[in-house]
Amino acid sequence: MKPPAFDYHAPDSVAGVLEVLAQYGDDAKPLAGGQSLVPAMSFRLARPSVLVDLGRVPGLEGIRSEGGELRFGAMTRQRELEASALVAERLPLLSGVLPHIAHPQIRNRGTVGGSLAHADPAAELPAVLLALGGRCRIRSSAGERWVGADDFYTGLFETALGDGDLLVEVALPEEQPRSGWGFHEFARRHGDYALVGVVAQVHLDGRRLRDGRIALLSVGDGPVRAVRAEQVLRGLDLDDPAARDRGLAEAARLTAHADIDPPGDLQATAAFRRHLAEVLTRRALDDAVARALGELAPAT
Ligand code: FAD
Repeated sequence: MKPPAFDYHAPDSVAGVLEVLAQYGDDAKPLAGGQSLVPAMSFRLARPSVLVDLGRVPGLEGIRSEGGELRFGAMTRQRELEASALVAERLPLLSGVLPHIAHPQIRNRGTVGGSLAHADPAAELPAVLLALGGRCRIRSSAGERWVGADDFYTGLFETALGDGDLLVEVALPEEQPRSGWGFHEFARRHGDYALVGVVAQVHLDGRRLRDGRIALLSVGDGPVRAVRAEQVLRGLDLDDPAARDRGLAEAARLTAHADIDPPGDLQATAAFRRHLAEVLTRRALDDAVARALGELAPAT
């Protein structure tokens, strides 16, 4: 199917984009890589009458390190993140997750900002944003604001972005010493949207777990944080193998049975998603702890 008719604007500055967005309100949508928006329009799931192409706007691309964060321009292509030596060095979690997003052809076009703004509950990057506690820089004709990950996702395909808002930059904390990450997802075929995915990040204090964050995809209206499970991680003694095993198992159990309320659909029942969530959370936590302790090679 072809998308319904729309007007096309291609401004050459952020100010030009904001002007069009302010003029047309909820009739207008930014067009980034088009990998989600164009199919949604073809299926008549989205019907913007105005598209504002971000492709010619300078200053929206690029990756840099600043103040302990990696900063990504919203139009940075997913493939560029995947190939970036800076990302691999400072935020290996992101390098590990990216190959699981769709296919190389889609990552060549798809952008970091488009994925975060689209807020598909099955998408990987929103869960990464939430697990790392990153933040988003948003501009509109009224000014600029930063919104933290915990406040960015507000519902099904809903974010803190309102009419006239443009996501311009994303900041993710770089990996710290004595920290580790884990990512596991289950998809029927590589490149498909996952039935469940889990991103975990832990920080150590000596041989104890200082704290950790866990975020899941495909189990709710958006990325979901496993806050009850995170409480169990705090202070966990890693020197005692039995305590380590019990604590991580309990965190995985709480994730699946207290922190999420997964939907059932044609792809998977709610019970199967809970089962996957428990198994994958345990694997992600095992990897995160092993990396933090230096038991797992950084690149594996
Ligand atoms: P677009 O499609 O251009 O835009 C998406 C939405 O975000 C639109 O509403 C648009 O208005 C808005 N938007 C875009 N940029 C901004 C901005 N800067 N500020 C405000 N709003 C903005 N994704 C996954 O995460 N995992 C997968 O497994 C996966 N599989 C896929 C399989 C297929 C076959 C396809 C076609 C896509 C798949 N995707 C998957 C989606 C892909 O990652 C998209 O690239 C991404 O979701 C959207 O990025 P985009 O740059 O193409 O955004």
